[in-house]
Amino acid sequence: MKVRTIAFIRFLIVLLLLLLVVIDTLIINHLQKKLDQITILTTENDSLRKHEGIDLFVPENTPVYPIADYGIVMQAEDNPHFLIETECKRENGVIDTVKVEYGKIVRILYPEGIETLYAHLNKIFVKTGETVTGSTKVGLTGLTGNIRRSGKPSHLHLELRDAENKTFNPKHRLFFHQGSVKNFLKNLKLE
Ligand SMILES: [Zn+2]
Repeated sequence: MKVRTIAFIRFLIVLLLLLLVVIDTLIINHLQKKLDQITILTTENDSLRKHEGIDLFVPENTPVYPIADYGIVMQAEDNPHFLIETECKRENGVIDTVKVEYGKIVRILYPEGIETLYAHLNKIFVKTGETVTGSTKVGLTGLTGNIRRSGKPSHLHLELRDAENKTFNPKHRLFFHQGSVKNFLKNLKLE
């Protein structure tokens, strides 16, 4: 092969690699934007509050079940105005805590240390300390808590905590580490 031809092929390879880097960067940026959208930041009390779960928009009074075959109810609050302290970022960048009206909630602990928190429930059927199975109806989705003020329709706020008691977005964790959201929702047995 002529020297010029080899040089041209090399040039083409370098061009192709550069193109790949550009495409890769674009894809990463796009994904990053998607992730930012999932971790919704809402303005509340002049602060940026991290939305630490997902909202499942299902018909009001949809039965809610545990996500695993065995669990213990760690907390069951029948108060429609129940408050939970969550992390927020003040306008000056300071990380602070703010109390958010979650409404009626049920918190269940599963064997691997994973916890689910269901919020905005209309009705709860379990008590703190009770053991549950995958088929225990723990409550009905609804409109309690700050939903009315936020203007959002009835939904299930689903929050997950890991063994270190840190909240994580089920969409992030399940998509990237454990499986698909679809599979997760199947396990949630929403009727
Ligand atoms: Zn929510």
